[in-house]
Amino acid sequence: MYPFTYQRAATLEDALAPLLNDPEARALAGGMTLLPTMKMRLAAPTQLIDIARLPELRGIQIEADAVTVGAAQRHVEVATDPALRAALPALAELAGLIGDPQVRARGTLGGSVANNDPAADYPAAVLGLDGTVITNRRSIPAAAFFQGMFATALEPGELIRAVRFARPKRAAYAKFAQAASGYAMTGVMVAQFDHGVRVAVTGAGPGVFRWTQAEQALAARMAPEALDALTLDASGLNADLHASAEYRAHLVGVMTRQAVSQLAGSAR
Ligand SMILES: Cc1cc2nc3c(=O)[nH]c(=O)nc-3n(C[C@H](O)[C@H](O)[C@H](O)COP(=O)(O)OP(=O)(O)OC[C@H]3O[C@@H](n4cnc5c(N)ncnc54)[C@H](O)[C@@H]3O)c2cc1C
Repeated sequence: MYPFTYQRAATLEDALAPLLNDPEARALAGGMTLLPTMKMRLAAPTQLIDIARLPELRGIQIEADAVTVGAAQRHVEVATDPALRAALPALAELAGLIGDPQVRARGTLGGSVANNDPAADYPAAVLGLDGTVITNRRSIPAAAFFQGMFATALEPGELIRAVRFARPKRAAYAKFAQAASGYAMTGVMVAQFDHGVRVAVTGAGPGVFRWTQAEQALAARMAPEALDALTLDASGLNADLHASAEYRAHLVGVMTRQAVSQLAGSAR
């Protein structure tokens, strides 16, 4: 590794100063993405500012209509928190499907959302559960936050403090994992609200997106058969050594049906 400095921030204010003053400084949360990226020489920050223990980024709040999760909550904490699991089981399930036990023990919600890997799981939850990303400066609705592959609305020196997820009547997440890494070849969050249905897809395209045709069909009838006449257009979807765009389009239909089938047992 090349030289860089490491400092553990004690307060959010302490963390923000170097991030604002040095464009090459980076926040370090779980390190599950940033450290491998540095090892591969794809990133070369001058300073790492450890934000993993900041009290301002920790905690889980359950309200009647929302669940707010601190950015520094690790995947295992989201997967196993009893109150969260009772209030929003689909989110806990999703967190429990991320990577492997080591990754879940270190990786954080904020790091995953800030990184916006096109195959990451959390973006499907943020978009599908009508989420809002809360930073040290503002609140950003999911649709405005995710801006394509590894791109978000975050500005230099802006940190995610928490994500607020709306509580649906019921929701479920189905994922077809890439066998080696665990990342989503395709993951689909289906959420039924009083005002409609949201279907958010990760892994299949260059960024998370809503399958609006499926949302309309499921709003009319919440059953796997409601999707029978639908096929997602493969143009624009990812094609790589793991799967073609057509395969991924098919997989989106299969995972959406699986999520809808799970919904029966997931009412809150
Ligand atoms: C082997 C392996 C398998 C994995 N499998 C999966 C999987 O199946 N599904 C999945 O979704 N992910 C998977 N991941 C990624 C994992 O979820 C990471 O934890 C996550 O992408 C990054 O979280 P982190 O806390 O480690 O962030 P870090 O690596 O510390 O940071 C990542 C980026 O986010 C920035 N950042 C961190 N926190 C904040 C914040 N609060 N505000 C603003 N910016 C911030 C950092 O500066 C950095 O640029 C896998 C990773 C590995 C190594």
